[in-house]
Amino acid sequence: MPSIRILPEELVNKIAAGEVVERPASIVKELVENSIDAKSTRITIDIQQGGKKLIRLADNGCGMEREDAILAFERHATSKLRDEAGLWAIKTMGFRGEALPSIASVSRLMMVTSIDAARLGVKVEIEGGRLIGVYDTGAPKGTLVEVKDIFFNMPARLKFLKAMNTELRHIIEIVTQHAIANYRIHFTLSHNRKLLFDFPDSRDIRSRLHQIYGMEFVESLKEIDSKSDHLNVHGFVSLPQVTMADRTHQVFFVNGRPVRNATLTHALYEAYRNTIHKDRHPVAFLFIEMEPASVDVNVHPTKREVAFRDQGSIHDMVVTAIRERIGSLETVNDKERKDIISEHFQWRDIENGKWWEVESDVAFHSRVMEEMQGYLLSTDREDYRFIQIDGTFIVAVSHQGITIIDQHAAHERILYETLKKAYNFKQITSQSLLIPVVIELSPAETIILREQMGLITSIGIEVEEFSGASFIIRSVPSVLSGCDPRMLLLDLLTTISKNTSTNLMDAVMATMACHGAVRANQPLNSNQMSQLMKDLEKTDMPHTCPHGRPTIIRFMTEELKRMFKRR
Ligand code: ADP
Ligand code: MG
Repeated sequence: MPSIRILPEELVNKIAAGEVVERPASIVKELVENSIDAKSTRITIDIQQGGKKLIRLADNGCGMEREDAILAFERHATSKLRDEAGLWAIKTMGFRGEALPSIASVSRLMMVTSIDAARLGVKVEIEGGRLIGVYDTGAPKGTLVEVKDIFFNMPARLKFLKAMNTELRHIIEIVTQHAIANYRIHFTLSHNRKLLFDFPDSRDIRSRLHQIYGMEFVESLKEIDSKSDHLNVHGFVSLPQVTMADRTHQVFFVNGRPVRNATLTHALYEAYRNTIHKDRHPVAFLFIEMEPASVDVNVHPTKREVAFRDQGSIHDMVVTAIRERIGSLETVNDKERKDIISEHFQWRDIENGKWWEVESDVAFHSRVMEEMQGYLLSTDREDYRFIQIDGTFIVAVSHQGITIIDQHAAHERILYETLKKAYNFKQITSQSLLIPVVIELSPAETIILREQMGLITSIGIEVEEFSGASFIIRSVPSVLSGCDPRMLLLDLLTTISKNTSTNLMDAVMATMACHGAVRANQPLNSNQMSQLMKDLEKTDMPHTCPHGRPTIIRFMTEELKRMFKRR
């Protein structure tokens, strides 16, 4: 029989650390949350080597008494929760009393804290979970925590950490999220002694977003604000025209806590259903406020996820709040309703008050049938006849059969191969923009751009630093002359941050091709459709786009005969 033993405290903390401390960013998150709970108005963070070497956070919050400062490193020691009822009334970020002991068990930690600058403060030193010393010291009011050599005593975990800049990006993401929700707190973040950002306290979420993402980007968003008896949904979302290559510009806050939550994500995409491409992502900074009792914040060790008591009504309220602001089929008035029945769907771009017309299914079908009949009756059977369906597919009909082409995917393939060949021969030509474009980048994007300036130049984009977080784009590759330079650069930065060096150039070319390619819902005339088909046939791999989706489907007349059992 194996004998059962209670594990020693040190080992228990290390095991808990496995859940709480995944990487340097998780430590930053816990420390920032403690400073927020301590009612700080200023949080200063210094990082070295992506946090692997050092994380230092100083706040001007309430600080701790001597005994509390020692007790704080005991497991399940917290000042924020007293009893079970309290668990359903949590208004603080923390309550589990796990963070400090967990962090201290996997690093060399030093904490200095004081509740009053006029009195003596205390300094606590812990190494790998072992208390090294407790000293009296003079200190300003507040708390300073210094975490060095994360995972020095867990080599297996250390190996899982990523390159410095990847870890740094995670830290920036965490701090940015908390900075958005806590706009009254002055946040400063430095890396390897260089200041990455400094966000002085601001008056509202909008001005905090200006500090982080730049005025222009934020002002392109729509503000939402919707209240019911038990629920308040507010924040900022993008119009369907402004989409991103990934979800980094989506943050949900529940009672001020940045969270991941499937209900909220689903509601967001539901609100944009049919208005954005399935590979693109809306921007959303969404704040949900409700009674603490209606949400369970204790479903995940790092409190990253929450569960709602009443998912259904939250979901519906988010969908409605967004749709009301971005426009949708549901918001057409009576006059337009008539149009829908007769000929067209209309979709309103609330920003410009403009209506976009989309053919209804019925109108479309009868037009295709007419054109097909026209073709069949024609004597002109050598040539192709082209029809565009749904503004997305090209149907080319000849006596040999029917060819269907996805216009965007096909054009992507053509541009991808053109760009790749030009790049290999160092011949990507660029074209100056008539009016250079100023773009404001987030701290994470700025880092990537500075690092990869050589690559960006080599692919035909001329961009230079302007001031602070602003850059000027002066030229773009000639083959992409019609693209939106800002979206191109932002998507390229995302692509670069996500790919390893082995497939980086392919991914970069695919992103560029995507930006230059004709969009869905872009009308093409017969000549353009014919040219696209010819160009596609000349490529090395005409059957798939650079992302692997099909570009072309054919039904040869012989196949049609077989399908209709004429053979
Ligand atoms: P929790 O935040 O879940 O209570 P922690 O392990 O993060 O658990 O912190 C333990 C306790 O230490 C907190 O409850 C709080 O009383 C105290 N504490 C931690 N950080 C700070 C800080 N920056 N300022 C004041 N008190 C703090
Ligand atoms: Mg905490």
